[in-house]
Amino acid sequence: MDKDLNKKFIMEVREMQYICDRAMRGEEVNCPECGEKLLYYGLNSGKHPAVYCPNNDFKVLMDFKEENIIEKLGLDKSKKK
Ligand SMILES: [Zn+2]
Repeated sequence: MDKDLNKKFIMEVREMQYICDRAMRGEEVNCPECGEKLLYYGLNSGKHPAVYCPNNDFKVLMDFKEENIIEKLGLDKSKKK
């Protein structure tokens, strides 16, 4: 993958992680695309856990087996908790 593209991709993953973290804490998070308040499906919603925009221009599906999306993708090897 092109280095600049990879860098951009990592930044987008970090942004998604940040949005998901805040939504999971019950905070209001606005869509990065249109500014609409994002909706959140939790573990007990009966649907796949996800943060999504009611206007369908932003959606992140979450996998709760892995806590950290960035670590899951193997992008952040330096930061360990
Ligand atoms: Zn939106």
